[in-house]
Amino acid sequence: MSTQPFARSHRKMQLKSILNHVEPLKSFVYKQVRIIEVDGAPTVIEVDIEPRANGRPICSGCGKKRPQYDRQNVRRWQFVPLWGISVFFVYSMRRVACPACGVKVEQVPKAMNVLDRFHIMKNMNTAIDEVRRTEVAELKRDGFVPILKHSRWCLLKRRENLTEPQAAKLDELLKYNLKSVKAMLLRDDFQQFWTYMRPGWAMKFLDSWCERAKESGLEQMQKVAKSLQHHRRLLANWFHAKGEISSGVVEGFNGKTKLTIRKAYGLRTPEGIKIALFHTLGRLPEPEGTHRFC
Ligand SMILES: [Zn+2]
Repeated sequence: MSTQPFARSHRKMQLKSILNHVEPLKSFVYKQVRIIEVDGAPTVIEVDIEPRANGRPICSGCGKKRPQYDRQNVRRWQFVPLWGISVFFVYSMRRVACPACGVKVEQVPKAMNVLDRFHIMKNMNTAIDEVRRTEVAELKRDGFVPILKHSRWCLLKRRENLTEPQAAKLDELLKYNLKSVKAMLLRDDFQQFWTYMRPGWAMKFLDSWCERAKESGLEQMQKVAKSLQHHRRLLANWFHAKGEISSGVVEGFNGKTKLTIRKAYGLRTPEGIKIALFHTLGRLPEPEGTHRFC
């Protein structure tokens, strides 16, 4: 009984050194580690992250060190699972007062954004948006009809969430050989990555996807591919632990809840939202043709 606190803190110490080994941070430190147990079994590991003392935040806009403006609420980033246990980083981001970019959030360690499933998609969407912006400028310069007008959300939103005019616009865009569309298709293809059960196949897919991104000639997508490849070994962890991650399910559940509430626009009573949630999460019969969340 008396040895337990020691064993526990010892385990946490080891965890920190493992984290420092697999993903060393430059201007941040791993602070406190919490092991959350459910029924006596470790289920989630939470790791607090703090900036190094005297370390000034880096502006995410221009990459320069800037004075701190304020701090945001605590956020969580999902790291790859270790030993089949979900790992989350917990950090409250600083904002900087940048003379060049205004008030911006700071840059966080790359791994935090590259390994988190949600952030991978976000990075891809940022890339697509940049491709689109460059392409719009090119088309304008060459005097082409502005086919890319009002295309932003067609390219960025999930297909199933497009409004009818947006879906029609996307159909139109697909007829052209556009760089923006190429980037979007690359992102859509990447979804397949998460469906693999074995790390070997997942990594094969990752490599071939990165190869295609490189060959696409789209600089922004090449950058995404490069950072994915840099963290290749850690990304494989997602598949080593497949089936054992319960919190992934919880995260998915939370995402669905948020989405349902958003989609239940107009259903402002708690009762209405509750019914919408039962339908989405409980797989109750839905009208024909409606997208099923997966
Ligand atoms: Zn800046």
